Amino acid sequence: MATLFISDLHLCGERPDKLASLERLLAHAAGRVDALYILGDLFEIWVGDDDDTQPYPAVVQYLRQFSDSGTPLYVMRGNRDFLIGDGFASMTGSTLLVDPTSTDLHGTPALLMHGDLLCTQDVDYQAFRRKVRDPHWQRAFLAKPLWLRKLTGKVARMRSRLASRGKPQYIMDVDQRAVEDALRGHAATLLIHGHTHRPGIYDLAVDGRAVRRIVLGDWYEQDSVLVCDRYGQSLLRVQDYLGQV
Ligand code: MN
Repeated sequence: MATLFISDLHLCGERPDKLASLERLLAHAAGRVDALYILGDLFEIWVGDDDDTQPYPAVVQYLRQFSDSGTPLYVMRGNRDFLIGDGFASMTGSTLLVDPTSTDLHGTPALLMHGDLLCTQDVDYQAFRRKVRDPHWQRAFLAKPLWLRKLTGKVARMRSRLASRGKPQYIMDVDQRAVEDALRGHAATLLIHGHTHRPGIYDLAVDGRAVRRIVLGDWYEQDSVLVCDRYGQSLLRVQDYLGQV
């Protein structure tokens, strides 16, 4: 059986077709795959597990139906939905993963990440990341009323969009040394991540060892799903995956 990976769906109220794609993927994969991994940015924004604005309740319900089938569901937080918490995990029946997570993928030592940690050249972002991943900051933020968190989230999105516009491309991509350090540090020969929206399968060498980095595409345009089994890995469009199985 295959293991599926998706990331960067950026689900929000504005793109209902993506919600429908996820629903189809989950309905198909439930009970038919080894596991489904969502490697961050499932949501465009997540300001707390108590946010019941659509499409969140719909997504939670689809994920719950999936995990009720008995197929393991793993969720890693991304830079947009880093506030996903234990409430979300229990509502959806998913297991939250720390970033990075090492796993044995059909015999291959693999490292799973969202990908933002690899963008080490973006010093401003890394400082922001440290701040908002601090448990004290998160507790204080989550104690605020939902309307205020939603407003803060909207403003943060606008500010981040403006900030990325001025940044050169290389800063927005992964740093090669960070990739090598991560693979070396976890003795992995396969790295799977999303975040950069630059999908592809890249073969490289670390310390003379052949390693592979697979970047999942986002669901704005690429609708990527990575299908891994004991024969290898293929990066497909969700439509094509559902069409061929
Ligand atoms: Mn991201």
